Amino acid sequence: MTYDSHNIFARILRGEIPNKTIYEDEYALAFHDIAPQAPVHALVIPKGEFMDVCDFSLNAGAAQIAGFWQAVAKTVTALELEQNGFRAISNCKEHGGQEVPHFHVHILGGKPVGRMIS
Ligand code: AMP
Repeated sequence: MTYDSHNIFARILRGEIPNKTIYEDEYALAFHDIAPQAPVHALVIPKGEFMDVCDFSLNAGAAQIAGFWQAVAKTVTALELEQNGFRAISNCKEHGGQEVPHFHVHILGGKPVGRMIS
């Protein structure tokens, strides 16, 4: 499987589609999900062509990996979710329910989000 450069997050990174940016640096972009599943629902995506969490973890450089996860933490701070908590998840491929084939982490919070899978 190869990276599809026409996926919607690739288009967001190229500025072809608007987004509601929460945080951005050289490694990552964080923005509000267009169809929120919780009062706060953000997506954090790396600035690189990675299909899912395994592709990113195995093939990104150390600086990219560190920068991405620090961007996740900075997004949590920007959203003021540190104190009450949140869930960070990454859907992977068909069984994981991944719709957009560009690695992303969902950050869900703003209320208790329940157990792992309801
Ligand atoms: P996943 O199922 O893990 O691939 O999640 C993809 C997420 O992307 C879903 O929660 C969608 O609501 C979200 N999404 C799709 N298009 C956009 C968009 N243009 N802007 C923001 N979020 C989007």
